[in-house]
Amino acid sequence: MLDLIHELWFLKRDILSDDFDRALFRLAQEVPMTIHEYPTGASCWTWRVPEKWTCHEAYLETLDGRRLLDYAHHPLHVVSYSLPFEGIVTRQELLAHLHVHPHLPEAIPYVFKYYDRDWGLCASQPLRDSLTDEVYRVVIRTTFEPGVLKVGEYVIQGESRQSFMLVAHLCHPGMVNDDLTGVVVGLDVARALLATEKPYYTYRVLILPETIGSVAYLSQHEDLIPEMVGGLFLEMLGNDSPHALQGSFQSDSQVDRCLVSALRGLDLYSYSAPYRSVINNDERQFNAPGVRVPMLSLSRVEPPGSPTRPYREYHSSLDTPDIVSQERLEASRQVVLSLLQTWERNQYVVNKFKGEVFCSGYGIWIDYRINPEGHRRLFEIMERCDGERTVADIATEIGISFQAVWEVVSLLQEKDLVWLSRVPSPTYPR
Ligand SMILES: [Zn+2]
Repeated sequence: MLDLIHELWFLKRDILSDDFDRALFRLAQEVPMTIHEYPTGASCWTWRVPEKWTCHEAYLETLDGRRLLDYAHHPLHVVSYSLPFEGIVTRQELLAHLHVHPHLPEAIPYVFKYYDRDWGLCASQPLRDSLTDEVYRVVIRTTFEPGVLKVGEYVIQGESRQSFMLVAHLCHPGMVNDDLTGVVVGLDVARALLATEKPYYTYRVLILPETIGSVAYLSQHEDLIPEMVGGLFLEMLGNDSPHALQGSFQSDSQVDRCLVSALRGLDLYSYSAPYRSVINNDERQFNAPGVRVPMLSLSRVEPPGSPTRPYREYHSSLDTPDIVSQERLEASRQVVLSLLQTWERNQYVVNKFKGEVFCSGYGIWIDYRINPEGHRRLFEIMERCDGERTVADIATEIGISFQAVWEVVSLLQEKDLVWLSRVPSPTYPR
């Protein structure tokens, strides 16, 4: 994963650009991918695919030819989708178009203006502060031309057509944690899924430019939407912050209940938070009206209240390979795989027994004098095994981890006291 990051991070992966295509084609060598294409101007619900953007050259100079910043040194020096501009400008006019980072003086900020366009450069605060001349020379040679928006899709066919979506975006030029880490973790998860036995659900991994990529894919695959049972968006998975699981718009959905209760049993330092309260990404398009696919989001984000949330180097030139580690990426990959494993396991627990189980007779009684908590949990779980509740429902109701419930359900299954069903199967007489 880290090797791929080193190879791709400095590419100028703007939403429709040669380098975005380069990065996607490189990833398609890792896993067999279908590349969906949407031409400039294509209408996607209320959106239109924009032009391909290329910055050929851009710099800021003093009138005597001293170069102050150069796009050749860092792709963030030019606003993504900046209009072309060449001329001599006053210091005042330049400052109106020269962006700095709100809290990292030494960094170049990431600024994009895909639709509401203007010309713009980005610099560090010290550079901006050093501008004392009356006038400067600005050169921004950018072009807009018809292009093709590309979405990479990797499908792991399951027994069911019902699909679980894994989504990551690839459109952040010259940055790593946001967004390449989500991409490489997603691909590695896909590889691991393919190496195991056929899953129940079908998994679709999408690598795309943020927002417009999701809108384009969804609007051109409306037939697939009813089969999408849930999803998980991935990004910011290489830094040191704890795992944050952001719920979907439908916080009561099976996927929400399952993943939230599962993360509790997977990572003690993690936390879960409601929709739109951690970070906003492509999950918005899946959760939106007319789509309503419950999609959660997993990232490593500093806890609420931290002044540098989501993480210190966010949307800046300091988001480099130095702030991520293979160890963190691997831990996140394991969390994602475990979350998907619980999703596969999450079924309705159907009782074969009637009344309360004679626990001692089955050798499963827990002595309340020795283990009062275990005793209480066993009964709390058993009384909810009624064909109407999934493992995740039971975990959510009792407020314990998916894994803790699964352990008891597995024991009951072993004793032939319950069976698991993909559909509700109530057992009380009516
Ligand atoms: Zn971002």
